[in-house]
Amino acid sequence: MDKVDPAGYMTDTGTAVNGHPKNYFASYEDLSIHELMLKDFPRTQAYKKFFEENAPYFKDKVVLDVGAGTGVLSLFAASVGAKKVYAVEASKMSELCKEIVNCNGFEDRVEVFSCPVEELSLPENTKVDVLVSEWMGFYLLHEAMLDSVIYARDKFLASDGIMAPSKATLYVAPTDMDLYHSSHVEFWKNVYGFDFSSVIPSVTQKFQKEPVISEIQSTELLASAQKVVEVDLKTVVLTDVQKISQKLDIKMDKSGILRGFASWFDVEFSPLDSSVTCGLLSTSPNSPQTHWKQTVFVLPEEIPIDTGDEISTLVELSQDESNKRHYNISIELLDVDDDYSDEDDHPVPCDCGAARCRLIKKVMDTYDEEHRELEAEADSVNVEAETEAVRVMDSEMSLESSDLEVIDQ
Ligand code: SAH
Repeated sequence: MDKVDPAGYMTDTGTAVNGHPKNYFASYEDLSIHELMLKDFPRTQAYKKFFEENAPYFKDKVVLDVGAGTGVLSLFAASVGAKKVYAVEASKMSELCKEIVNCNGFEDRVEVFSCPVEELSLPENTKVDVLVSEWMGFYLLHEAMLDSVIYARDKFLASDGIMAPSKATLYVAPTDMDLYHSSHVEFWKNVYGFDFSSVIPSVTQKFQKEPVISEIQSTELLASAQKVVEVDLKTVVLTDVQKISQKLDIKMDKSGILRGFASWFDVEFSPLDSSVTCGLLSTSPNSPQTHWKQTVFVLPEEIPIDTGDEISTLVELSQDESNKRHYNISIELLDVDDDYSDEDDHPVPCDCGAARCRLIKKVMDTYDEEHRELEAEADSVNVEAETEAVRVMDSEMSLESSDLEVIDQ
């Protein structure tokens, strides 16, 4: 799942039954979203391959499809021999799903339920052998559908049952965002022969405040990807994904301009059942692009970097308390040996050349330009300016995922 942000449903904090925001399911009544997902070949093919390669395993098995949409995953399961498939879809798409199931002659084995999985009741003591779901959102966790999958697993999956997918991993890597920069920043410097560069500050400010959904090429990555979190779908609990905090030490593989951090995820179909074949769906810049593209967090300032430079970052994702479909994300640059304490061995500003110090200095220089007159007044004002510069740097990287911006290069 996970598309663009149609109808602004992710910004709707109105709560309906079971804690699902009011317009969340309504957004999935738009067929174009399902078309987008079905046409996403790496996505849909990864699931199809999982079922086809494990056809002997599925014979006589009972499957639960959480968030069936048009029913494609249920049909994959039934067509390789599953004895019974429970397809649960909370949006009105469940009506079309029923028609599609009937039209393909699977109504005897695929039973469609029109309700949130949290309201599903199956015949007493029914346990399923396989729970399949395409629950992943931008940067893996957006939309928080994983919460529903965990609920369904705990209620309906047999103790030796398998999850498909069975593992999910979120990555980040620093990027120079060269393509984005030339199409959305450099572009303004020559528009039909005119200089439009006065719009650049407002363009860049906008993208610094919101994560950008954009295709990043592998050539735009400045270092190899780092794992932020790895989720075992069989054992993960809600608290594991409500707040994630991961310190990452990153060594640059090449020189360039650091403009942001790209994030993406992989999911694996590799249950601990030796009779089941493994598979991978990767949304990495090194793999064929999917509708998820990559989610990019743009830095408040550009930082020139050299090959071998080391930066240390603290990546934090926390589920928003007022709207659980949203995550608040921050990527903070730390000193390499920082243990996240507030103590800072470096003066502010500092000329040591460390990436974090260069960023602070750059932000302060910008601040200085804007506040030259104030700065001249007194030392005390300088201290305030310095404090403010650091605060601005940290807070501008704290991005509400509700503000996702989808960009075509
Ligand atoms: N399985 C389909 C659709 C995936 S999109 C496919 O692969 O093409 C995710 C779907 O899950 C949406 O249709 C959404 O309405 C549904 N969904 C999300 N949370 C749900 C919940 N708690 N209960 C039932 N359906 C849910």
